[in-house]
Amino acid sequence: MRNLSKLLFVMLSGSLIVASCTEKKVDDTPVVENEFQWQIDQFDDIKVMRYQVPDWDSLSLQQKQFIYYLAEATYWGRDILYDQFFKYNLMIRNTLEGIYTTYDGDKECDDWKNFEIYLKKVWFANGIHHHYSNDKFTPKFSEEYFRMLLEQSKDGYVAMNATEGMDKNEFADLLCDIIFNSDKYQSKNNTAEGVDIIAQSCNNFYENLTAKEVEDFYNKMQVPDTARPISKGLNSKLIKTADNGEIVERIYKIGGMYSETIEKIVENLEKAIEFAESDVQKAELRKLIEYYQTGDLTTWDEYNVMWAENTDPRVDYVNGFIENYGDPLGLKATWEAIVDFKDIEATKMTKLISENAQWFEDNSPVDKRFKKEKVKGVSAKAINVVALGGDCFPAPPIGINLPNADWIRKDHGSKSVTITNLTYAYDQAALQRGGSLEEFAASEEEIARTKKYSSLTDNLHTDLHECLGHGSGQLLPDTDPNALKEHSSTLEEARADLFGLYYLADDKMVELGLLPDKEAYKAEYDGYIRNGLITQLTRILEGKNIEEAHMRNRALISRWCYENGKADNVIEMFKKDGKTYVKVNDYVKLRELFGTLLAEIQRIKSEGDYAAGAALVEKYAVKVDPELHKEVLERYRALNLAPYGGFVNPKLTQVFDEKGNLKDIEISYPDNFAEQMLWLSKNYSIKPKF
Ligand code: ZN
Repeated sequence: MRNLSKLLFVMLSGSLIVASCTEKKVDDTPVVENEFQWQIDQFDDIKVMRYQVPDWDSLSLQQKQFIYYLAEATYWGRDILYDQFFKYNLMIRNTLEGIYTTYDGDKECDDWKNFEIYLKKVWFANGIHHHYSNDKFTPKFSEEYFRMLLEQSKDGYVAMNATEGMDKNEFADLLCDIIFNSDKYQSKNNTAEGVDIIAQSCNNFYENLTAKEVEDFYNKMQVPDTARPISKGLNSKLIKTADNGEIVERIYKIGGMYSETIEKIVENLEKAIEFAESDVQKAELRKLIEYYQTGDLTTWDEYNVMWAENTDPRVDYVNGFIENYGDPLGLKATWEAIVDFKDIEATKMTKLISENAQWFEDNSPVDKRFKKEKVKGVSAKAINVVALGGDCFPAPPIGINLPNADWIRKDHGSKSVTITNLTYAYDQAALQRGGSLEEFAASEEEIARTKKYSSLTDNLHTDLHECLGHGSGQLLPDTDPNALKEHSSTLEEARADLFGLYYLADDKMVELGLLPDKEAYKAEYDGYIRNGLITQLTRILEGKNIEEAHMRNRALISRWCYENGKADNVIEMFKKDGKTYVKVNDYVKLRELFGTLLAEIQRIKSEGDYAAGAALVEKYAVKVDPELHKEVLERYRALNLAPYGGFVNPKLTQVFDEKGNLKDIEISYPDNFAEQMLWLSKNYSIKPKF
């Protein structure tokens, strides 16, 4: 796998591909009238965008209704996630919202603005800990100011009513201790060396327990079928009771943890079933409901088998306790959901590439001995999302590969998708706000070409990388598959990237209709080289080297081509007004260099030539020129960028005719983050007890 768009800093973490940082700048570019505004908010290190849903009107009314109820089921799980992240998150959120909506004092002062930023950060992170670093937020307003807001807002104490008999002082003291005490609840997920990763993390998957107690508990738990092991502990909270020290599991299900919320999810899944696309899909949804009713993990696996095998619905979804990144022990899953439908055009593209896999293999610049005689392309599916919820919201993945259980993946397959409307929205938001491209590109021509083609060529490069690159080539019969050891990922990503880069400039691209003309590929070549030589340095801390495999691969390719093209001046690095730029002078020769390096890296892999692989990586992929690094970091800082991004959801509205019959479901794109958060809290929350 690789990052799905070069504009995104993408961390590949298990089955979710998480987009966590973009290269693009945020500035004060004026709003162009009537133009769709992609980014709608920015605070601290966060930007909030919105995404469009193309082809919404190509769906039938039945499909839209199906999506509508699945989306309702998606919104409903939000509070479960807040609660899973930290036991006081909902108390804090409800209090902050009570103040936000009913305080009528001075809203121009810095204190209020800082209060608002704090609340937005809580909304974005689904709690008081940063969604990425897991550290508790430090408010930029004082405890005194907060106590004043509590007192002077009509609903300041709204969450107090949900406690068991706290008075105002006790309640205010508790909140202040949670928010302002820097010794408490510091990390949601503390994996530092020497700490007890359970006892010293304040996520809410465990109570009064140490890591050892948890491990002992689950090691002892019997698994009914060892060939098909259930995911132990996935959908529960584990608690050591205060009175007799007994350890008990409390399951999320109807009649168990979060019963009322799960009833709402199920209610909407039931409504959705009526509009499902096939009997298979109906049966699958009934199985999911059965799981929510029983909490039984064997039922969960049965459901996942049905979901994984149902490969071809137009409308699909994810809904449940799924990913375990939030638990330091990797047992408990956070609740998440999405609703999506297939992007037919984009899926056609990956299919077309896949169908021509043999042609690409036969014509690659690689030595014949290292080519596969019969190659099979992978056809990735592309989807558009319509609703994001739980742990996919507001910061979503841009690709999904589920289910997680290894035995299901092996015996029944998995679904791997890329989310095209989110990557498109990231790209468009970055281009619209401008800044990074303008700062680092070498010429106006390059900027114009990037704006015109890069969204398309980025996606195409990703598809070539994923559908063909990784699957191409073969090892010689005696080669040890692990011969390249610690350099294998870097070299493997380089091989897949080079395969894509080489073919982007091929006439075949235009012939197949994958690119509109012979100019487009240059946008990808410019961007790739600029990123590999310069802009990706912005993601490395000063004084550090390049560590991550994808970043090493891009440095390797770009620097190797720069060095080896020097005699012909293929790529030029130059300074202007003290700033460094790169420029591709000869695209044809650059393509030849990509081909030569592809052939060499394929040879290294096929023969298991560790020494040659290590030499390439060490010479080109790791070290950073400290002077250039410093310059690039300074230029980047001046752009005032928010490195993390997320989205608000579009709004689905039922439209009725005069007789009260449903006529259509319309989609619209709200542009206010706070309003959407308050709307969700008001309409999709059962006020909890504390
Ligand atoms: Zn890859």
